[in-house]
Amino acid sequence: MERVLSIRRWTRGEERAPHKPLLLLYALGRYQREGAAPIRYSAVERELERLLREFGPPRPSTMAYPFHHLTNDELLWQVETDEGPGSPGASAGRLRSSGARGRLHPELVAALDRDPSLVGRLTRALLTADFPPSLHEDICAETGLEPADGELPAAVLRRLPPRDPGFRLRVLEAYRFRCAFCDYDGWLGGRPVGLDAAHVRWRAYEGPDDPANGLSLCALHHRLFDRGVLGLTRDRTIVVSSAFRARSPVAARLVHDLAGRPVRSPDGGAECDPVHIDWHAAQVFRGPAIARAA
Ligand SMILES: [Zn+2]
Repeated sequence: MERVLSIRRWTRGEERAPHKPLLLLYALGRYQREGAAPIRYSAVERELERLLREFGPPRPSTMAYPFHHLTNDELLWQVETDEGPGSPGASAGRLRSSGARGRLHPELVAALDRDPSLVGRLTRALLTADFPPSLHEDICAETGLEPADGELPAAVLRRLPPRDPGFRLRVLEAYRFRCAFCDYDGWLGGRPVGLDAAHVRWRAYEGPDDPANGLSLCALHHRLFDRGVLGLTRDRTIVVSSAFRARSPVAARLVHDLAGRPVRSPDGGAECDPVHIDWHAAQVFRGPAIARAA
């Protein structure tokens, strides 16, 4: 667990670099379904790149990078080619032409074989350390993994800012229990339903439980915000990714019509902090935005 959580990342300050965690999650899913057989780069390249496009940062990058560089982390991942053991480097072309195959390190496989609960615990730890909860299910569906319940390892908890149990209520209250984007409100048994207190800057990236980092969002808009379909400008105008596609009139109404609209203002002056908006714009939002609606 410690070895997996201490992987070296390529990061510049606050930039998201979930490439190695995504490769490990993919490999753990394969291990669970098919055992520890080697994974041929050329056969899985498209699947890996799709994972990265869906859940990685909006800037262009490639999974050839972790396929090679994860071999430098201690006892996690091995690569061999038609010529023998060792990785040919982080070039996708070289990985393809050399017949490169990656596999979980035998020591890690032995630990996974010994302890059947380890896959689930590693899955949960990797997800929590890099992604907001709203994406965990999607990533699990794509990799075929099931996160385990139970306590998170200290190494993950240390990375997350402290939880404030009052955060959710303070954020929902400030927005009068409505979605800040579409005004949705809904109640069941005297409690709001389908409404979340979203973090603008993810907790996994030091986003605090502070109302100035919170938005009251309906479940749909929360998911689309965390996937980078929706975003905000510094003057708190909603933006919609030009990469988003939808055919039905209802999707156009729920998403495209938001472009250019102001975000609902919270009571008590806890507007979103531009610092957190900038992080989301650079690390999550799939720009460019579509032109503002008339
Ligand atoms: Zn909404």
